[in-house]
Amino acid sequence: MIDHTSSRRPAGEKVIVIGGGVAGLAAAVALAEDGFRVTLLEKRATLGGRASSFTDQTTGEMVDNCQHITMRCCTNLEFFYRRIGVWDKIRFYSKLTFLDQQGKPAVIQNGSPFPAPFHTLFSFARFHPLSLSEKSSVAKALIAILRAGTSPNRDSESIGNWLRKQKQPERAMAHFWRPILVSACNEEPDRISCEIGFKLFRDGFLSNAEAYQMGVPSVRLSDLYTQPSIETLSALGADIQLKIHVDALSVADRKVESVTLSDGTTLSADFYLSAVPFDIMLKMLHSDIREAPFFKDISLLEYSPITGVHLWFDKPFEVREPIALLDRETQWIFPKENTQPDGAELSKGGAYLALVVSSSKSLLSLSADEIIDICLKEVQEALPQSRSARLLHGRVIKEKKATFAPIPGVESLRPKQTTPIENLFLAGDWTRTGWPATMESAARSGYLAAERIMERAGRPKSLLQPDMPPSRLAKWFLGK
Ligand SMILES: Cc1cc2nc3c(=O)[nH]c(=O)nc-3n(C[C@H](O)[C@H](O)[C@H](O)COP(=O)(O)OP(=O)(O)OC[C@H]3O[C@@H](n4cnc5c(N)ncnc54)[C@H](O)[C@@H]3O)c2cc1C
Repeated sequence: MIDHTSSRRPAGEKVIVIGGGVAGLAAAVALAEDGFRVTLLEKRATLGGRASSFTDQTTGEMVDNCQHITMRCCTNLEFFYRRIGVWDKIRFYSKLTFLDQQGKPAVIQNGSPFPAPFHTLFSFARFHPLSLSEKSSVAKALIAILRAGTSPNRDSESIGNWLRKQKQPERAMAHFWRPILVSACNEEPDRISCEIGFKLFRDGFLSNAEAYQMGVPSVRLSDLYTQPSIETLSALGADIQLKIHVDALSVADRKVESVTLSDGTTLSADFYLSAVPFDIMLKMLHSDIREAPFFKDISLLEYSPITGVHLWFDKPFEVREPIALLDRETQWIFPKENTQPDGAELSKGGAYLALVVSSSKSLLSLSADEIIDICLKEVQEALPQSRSARLLHGRVIKEKKATFAPIPGVESLRPKQTTPIENLFLAGDWTRTGWPATMESAARSGYLAAERIMERAGRPKSLLQPDMPPSRLAKWFLGK
């Protein structure tokens, strides 16, 4: 963690970072630590970007736009959290609990005496939503993923298609593959590149016995990111400018000359790092530049939605841990604490649940009330203890542009962090990190972009954090 008590004034090259999401913040902290003079421009009043919070007017409660989770395998996000001093705000769960339609729990957890990839063997053997033969099919496909090595064609095939070729039964798709893939990649299996799907299972579930553990912030996302990042960056002498909208990048002779803000002001630097979503980055460029093949590929990326649903009840009831629902519209239920006992009169004392529906295309045309009806019914069916509590208030947040869609072929469209414009670098979960659109991908992209800037400044440094080490057995399967 960085010492916040002493503020230093760096004397190195000037870098303008556009966008204060995880990608921009990770890069900004790394660059400022290395002596670059960093100016961070963020259009909102808070930091954290798509991982953000707002005040719900009805309850007075600070609400996350949607529950965000991390996993132990997200080593770069962990590194960033440690830099800004919030790692202790992440609570890890070693039990992944699934509820079937009858409300019967099934758990995946580490607990067998065997190393990865067999660390969850005992719990998987008892995983009742799958029959013995379905489990055996899943196990064979998981081993095939581990042994698959690299293939240039892997990105062009969907994991849905690959799983069909592995003869995965329909129930294995519904009760195992789809819930994990949709939650982590935010798309349906037929629209997920095999490359990305394989990465998820290898890094998240098969190589290391702790990698799958789920981390949930114990504070609201704005509290996780805004003040800790401001304090860290200020201590490093960086200039953080909130509520500043960058309109355009002026480019001449393959170099960015300045950024233009919405009030017409221009700012210049030695290096420029765009850490905004891909469509916003493209809009900042002149149309001639957007036509260049490098940027044209980026324009082919697509978005996929996530819907967050918040439910407040009049009475408390116990939900001990996050729960995944099988065969339901609602994919995850997270128990939340009301954080504002004074301000949040309506929600005081009662239960508060945050629900998540990833790849929520089918919900986009429904009204908030219709979505709340569906979700409430599912919560009451899944959690008998909730039935005696009355819903006081529900809030639906449809994030239409939640993440890029990891469709087959996507890896060839995702750009590296360098661009044909000499002093323009890119970060963002959508840039080429090999990861699905997650906070880990954003942190990785920030470090990769910062590494490229340091290289260009003649002071190369390695920032990217190593993955969790695979067990010896997993290494053998991986052919390493
Ligand atoms: C509903 C939802 C649920 C999610 N759940 C999870 C999860 O559980 N786990 C997980 O790991 N990931 C999750 N994600 C994905 C995660 O939020 C993103 O991958 C990550 O936050 C992206 O970070 P980023 O820095 O790349 O981009 P962003 O967070 O989009 O940051 C870009 C920043 O640039 C700013 N900006 C944009 N335009 C301008 C401009 N013109 N001038 C100045 N600033 C500008 C924005 O305000 C923003 O702060 C979820 C996303 C959503 C939307």
